[in-house]
Amino acid sequence: VSNSGLSVTSVSYSYGTKQALDDVSFDVAPGQFAALLGPNGAGKSTLFSLLTRLFTTRDGTIRIAGFDMAKSPRQALEKMGVVFQSQTLDLDLTIRQNLSYFAALHGLSGRNARTRIDRALDRLQILDRAGEKARNLNGGHRRRTEIARALIHDPSVLLLDEATVGLDAAARQSITDHVHRLCAEENLTVLWATHLTDEVFDTDQLIVLHQGRILDQGLCADLRGDL
Ligand code: ADP
Ligand code: ADP
Repeated sequence: VSNSGLSVTSVSYSYGTKQALDDVSFDVAPGQFAALLGPNGAGKSTLFSLLTRLFTTRDGTIRIAGFDMAKSPRQALEKMGVVFQSQTLDLDLTIRQNLSYFAALHGLSGRNARTRIDRALDRLQILDRAGEKARNLNGGHRRRTEIARALIHDPSVLLLDEATVGLDAAARQSITDHVHRLCAEENLTVLWATHLTDEVFDTDQLIVLHQGRILDQGLCADLRGDL
């Protein structure tokens, strides 16, 4: 199990008779930044639900850092960090408190937890805000806190679902810059789901999902003319 990337092989999923994903396959190599681009209804949320094991399917295989999601879900999930689309911080807790519970969930406590929390906040350059209530932070800083929280257990794969939703242009740029930096400098494997074409141009790989199928897949520079 040496691979620290993400692989999706022949995955299908239906809601009753509605097929939301049809034979979807792609690989994100270790340390690569892949964008998953698709309009509303393309199947992005369904794919995310399968990647996070909210849903399961017998049709196809998902591997996170080499671990099969169906056969070794605990190991697969432990190798993955997730940033959900909706805001998920408790605004009345401090930034540090927001992360503490998640540290405990990952079996970290005491000084060890504190060290990991500091390190995660430092990776997102918000350690200086650790003692402030989430309510007092702007949207971009709250997002960075959620990304830090997703990295607390040091996963090799990071999934983000519409990570810039609701942010202004400057904050959006800041979030994408941070995630690109983590990917480049720390060898984090990233899957960035978005419906915004302007967020996919600097990525290593572009996966275009349309009506449950992969419409196109490849290097961003090669696909750019097709968009
Ligand atoms: P996206 O996140 O890209 O907007 P979804 O994964 O939410 O796409 O949806 C993919 C397709 O599956 C859409 O046609 C959507 O209407 C359909 N769908 C999603 N959830 C359900 C559901 N619970 N029951 C029936 N159809 C669904
Ligand atoms: P997103 O913002 O991720 O695109 P959607 O608007 O597609 O989300 O879906 C929001 C919720 O509604 C999800 O739980 C999805 O499963 C459900 N949903 C989407 N389409 C349908 C559908 N055609 N029938 C039933 N539920 C649906």
